[in-house]
Amino acid sequence: MHFQLTSEQLQIKELARQFADREILPLAAEADVKREFPMQVQAKAVELGLVNLTLPESVGGAGLGCVELVLVTEEFCRACLGIGTALCVNALAYEPILLGGSEAQQQRYLAPLAQGRFASFGMTEPGAGSDVAGIRTRATRTEGGYRLQGSKIWISNAPLADYFVVFAKTDMAASHKGMTAFIVEAGTPGVTVGPAMGKLGQRAAPTAEIFLDDAFVPEDRRLGAEGSGFALAMAVFDHSRPMVAAFGVGLIQRCVDESLAYARSRSSMGKPLIEHQAVAHKLAEMQMRLEAARLLTYQAAWLVDQGQRGTMQASIAKAFAADAAMWCATEAIQIFGGMGYSTEYPVEKLFRDAKVLQIYEGTSEIQRNIIAREMARI
Ligand SMILES: Cc1cc2nc3c(=O)[nH]c(=O)nc-3n(C[C@H](O)[C@H](O)[C@H](O)COP(=O)(O)OP(=O)(O)OC[C@H]3O[C@@H](n4cnc5c(N)ncnc54)[C@H](O)[C@@H]3O)c2cc1C
Repeated sequence: MHFQLTSEQLQIKELARQFADREILPLAAEADVKREFPMQVQAKAVELGLVNLTLPESVGGAGLGCVELVLVTEEFCRACLGIGTALCVNALAYEPILLGGSEAQQQRYLAPLAQGRFASFGMTEPGAGSDVAGIRTRATRTEGGYRLQGSKIWISNAPLADYFVVFAKTDMAASHKGMTAFIVEAGTPGVTVGPAMGKLGQRAAPTAEIFLDDAFVPEDRRLGAEGSGFALAMAVFDHSRPMVAAFGVGLIQRCVDESLAYARSRSSMGKPLIEHQAVAHKLAEMQMRLEAARLLTYQAAWLVDQGQRGTMQASIAKAFAADAAMWCATEAIQIFGGMGYSTEYPVEKLFRDAKVLQIYEGTSEIQRNIIAREMARI
């Protein structure tokens, strides 16, 4: 068993660390206030080959693995969870095409992403989030394709995307077995993207609704066979949850960095905060959760790269990192005291940003359902 990254992996992590410090960190607070994704960051990240890492070389991608993806993601999200998410979440949108798309679909829809374009993953609906099988968007067969009717909500990067991978029911009576995935191009008549939604945190990453009003989608944009959408989505989540776990690892690292620096520099009752055991123990606990979250995340990513089934490990990594991030952000505020509550210091943003990690890509409760189901299966 090796606990060491390769020299190439260390190099890309270091490149991402420097990029995050130079290009993301200085913009984070303003992007949060303005609720805007700074597009120039994306252009620079594309130039350095730091995004869309797992796109294959055949479509112009870097052809790297999930381990490299989590290493870079962690660094971006240490600097800003909002900007980091917007930079990385293409990997969720293109995974269904990688796993379920034809050669022609891959060439047509993945190559533009390698050039810096955006795509979105559209599963959640106003009436169905955790209940994936309960989606109501309908795809009705018509000559040459399908008519899509319904709506999607909370779709990351939807205002920036050229296309959406939309999950719909081709058989309304068949529950999850009636679900099919489609590539829906933005600008298709009947497809509208709503305004960016107001959010507690992660404000630099735009999130919007998508409305599908009798939108025609040609047959050649269906991913796989009719009815294959649910299995495809579950396979996608096994691959994407390590990345979301890395969002949490990055945020926890930032909590540790900020809290440690503050606890060293601020004194109370004649000594630095860090010399008060109650504060020191909080820092130690943060470091313990950081290291555990990081190892779980790397393990889950490694399983993806080995082509092994890692459903349980992906859910454990995602749930653990999300819960640890929320805990660490809460304690970071406590260590900062009143200043932790101030918008002048970075930890209140970490606290607002952390919460979403327990909600998207399957809530912390849903991850526990999956873990228990996998335990029962084994
Ligand atoms: C900022 C942001 C970005 C997002 N980006 C995307 C995206 O790009 N694409 C996309 O498709 N979706 C996206 N989502 C949606 C996200 O995946 C859902 O919000 C999430 O899956 C939860 O669904 P819900 O909001 O409908 O909550 P609900 O499913 O209504 O859940 C409400 C509560 O009930 C609990 N609960 C529900 N069912 C169960 C159960 N069976 N067992 C135990 N507890 C249960 C949940 O854990 C939760 O605490 C995003 C959400 C946010 C906030």
